[in-house]
Amino acid sequence: MTLYRATVIDVVGDPFVEDPGSVLRADADSALVVQDGVIVARGAYGALRADHPDEAVADLRAGVLLPGFVDTHVHFPQVRAIGALGMPLLDWLDRCALPEEARLADRGYAELVAGEFLHGLVSAGTTSALVFGSHFATAVDALFVAAARSGLRITAGQVLSDRALPPGLLTTPEQGLADGLALIDRWHGRGNVRYAVTPRFSLSTSEQMLDVCAELLGTEEVRFTSHINENGAEIDQVAAYFPARRHYLDTYHHHGLVIDRSVLAHNVHPTEPELEVMGQTGSWVAHCPTSNAALGSGLFPFRRHLQHRVGVALGSDVGAGTGFSLLKEGLQAYFTQQQLGAAEGLPLGPVHLLYLATRAGAEALGLDDRVGDLGVGRQFDAVWINPPQGSTLDVVLRHAVDAGAALAKLFALGTTADVAGVWVDDRQLYGTAVQPPPSRYSRPDKVA
Ligand SMILES: [Zn+2]
Repeated sequence: MTLYRATVIDVVGDPFVEDPGSVLRADADSALVVQDGVIVARGAYGALRADHPDEAVADLRAGVLLPGFVDTHVHFPQVRAIGALGMPLLDWLDRCALPEEARLADRGYAELVAGEFLHGLVSAGTTSALVFGSHFATAVDALFVAAARSGLRITAGQVLSDRALPPGLLTTPEQGLADGLALIDRWHGRGNVRYAVTPRFSLSTSEQMLDVCAELLGTEEVRFTSHINENGAEIDQVAAYFPARRHYLDTYHHHGLVIDRSVLAHNVHPTEPELEVMGQTGSWVAHCPTSNAALGSGLFPFRRHLQHRVGVALGSDVGAGTGFSLLKEGLQAYFTQQQLGAAEGLPLGPVHLLYLATRAGAEALGLDDRVGDLGVGRQFDAVWINPPQGSTLDVVLRHAVDAGAALAKLFALGTTADVAGVWVDDRQLYGTAVQPPPSRYSRPDKVA
């Protein structure tokens, strides 16, 4: 049993539905009592210490403790492709992403990249992720091996395509089915690892391959993810491939792939009928704002999603996105809505941003009964933000007037360099040791 002593900030409801102030929970000098990976008590440190005088204390008062971040869209084989700027989606895929993805045919290469990828996630404070895998079953297996070893909460799958990509990345529906069944059998539900059926996008998948996806989705309670409505040229090509479908979403929905276990990435250019179906089915959108900006894909119509009650969470979309930090994605989401202006944009406050980076992602992935906030009964998945003393973030946090202001400053200035500790199931996966003696980390003058 451990008492984590900290300023704890989390979001316990949906600030797009309820008053943001009512769903923000912020406790200065509080304690989380954690036993066997689970938070069993939360309250004022003094009272809980009196109840547990002999248990170990991890003193995290120098920083701010948040729920671990949940990234709902990130590509495992694209770590080394981050930062190629100046191209729209289809050019970027052809010239940058797909040549790198082809290299994962080599299992040794895939193992190296898997290590870099998981380190990228955890060092950004991400504890759960819905991961676009590789086109190669061996590379996906390598990712799962590394993920299971790491302890991170990883949901991923083999990317399926049978047309319109370089030949080396294609498979057949028969082989895709066999590979998917074997991976599900070996990995789904093993520790914190789960499987997601993952056609790259309907542009690169035939009707037969989408049937295979439906069959895989029906085998277990696996998840589904793909791309949608990211870019005008992409949308036009999908329409040309599927003349019988009403819209892009229908290319998936026709096969039963749009359900409450589905997360579709981007949706920058949705039609009203598509939003209606997404709202009715309870499927989720992974909003990837730095990717949308980097590729010039467009400005995400958040307000229209909200009007249709479509759930939205955040994705880094590495490698089109510019890094693993969900603090950066949150800030870019805020910028995007500001740029859309008063009529079209949806003003986002700091509580919305924390919700998008934590609880919304947990709901999108069906993990909200286990993670997403730091309440009693949840697993201890947490990120400790502790900026270097004297840094600008440190200075402004000291002068934050309340928890909402502190959160806004975290999103405005926080980077991966400020991530000082990350836990999943109470196992510390990243950061400096914070077990006792904790005094050298203690800065009691800090106000968050
Ligand atoms: Zn993507």
